Amino acid sequence: VPTFPVVLTFDVDGETMWLNRDPASVDQPITMSQGRYGPTVGLPRILALLDSEDIRATFFVPGWIADHYPDAVAEIGQRGHEVAHHGYRHEWPQRLDPEEEQALLLRGIEAIRAVVGYQPVGYRAPGWELSPTTLSLLVRHGFRYSSNFMDRDGPYVHDQEPIVELPVSWSLADSTFFRYGMQLPGARMATNDEAVSIWCGELDALSAEDACLVLTLHPELSGRPYRLAALRAFIEYARRKPGIRFVRAIDLADEVSPHPRPPVLDSMERAP
Ligand SMILES: [Zn+2]
Repeated sequence: VPTFPVVLTFDVDGETMWLNRDPASVDQPITMSQGRYGPTVGLPRILALLDSEDIRATFFVPGWIADHYPDAVAEIGQRGHEVAHHGYRHEWPQRLDPEEEQALLLRGIEAIRAVVGYQPVGYRAPGWELSPTTLSLLVRHGFRYSSNFMDRDGPYVHDQEPIVELPVSWSLADSTFFRYGMQLPGARMATNDEAVSIWCGELDALSAEDACLVLTLHPELSGRPYRLAALRAFIEYARRKPGIRFVRAIDLADEVSPHPRPPVLDSMERAP
């Protein structure tokens, strides 16, 4: 019986969300504190919820976060979740030249490997925007999937490169509804009900198709006590529907990938 895959993903932006927009943010204690809430407060709360729900998820981590919060990022891996790549300091690839982009990709790989012990094989671009050469760069450096494109409902293999895509959508994110900051003109906040209504409506519609649902959340947003209730409500709604399974991005990508999964990734599995 085919089941419908739901992938919970968390982009652990922390301070890098602001450092990338404006390096001078490093001298702005309150802006930094807004980011710091993610890895220090929101992340443990999310990990506890996932444990209690027995769900394994995927965390896209900027290398800067792995360097500055190694214990927090190691904890993600130790609980059986996947740690994947999210830039070094949340740089937007479309603003980098090819040499810079490759150097930052490698720096992010090494930062994650140093903490979790394996090379990340999934990539989500900060800001969900690639450069024209990102896909080929990912293939060259051993990545198995991208989770950035918005052109289909379900997982697929790119035509131009042998790499899996796990599509995303602005409607399947928390930042669309919850992100606010003085540096983000026009940002508004929505109630949990608005977000949960859209996420659950997406689930109803997508699960009737040959598709998947990739939800993109941020510990600094969805890790707040009130916002966590939105995630909990979505999980409960999904659990009440027949035929829904929660999977990590790597596991869904493996179902589609033209290449067998390298044994080195066994270290990603939860310890018995
Ligand atoms: Zn991000």
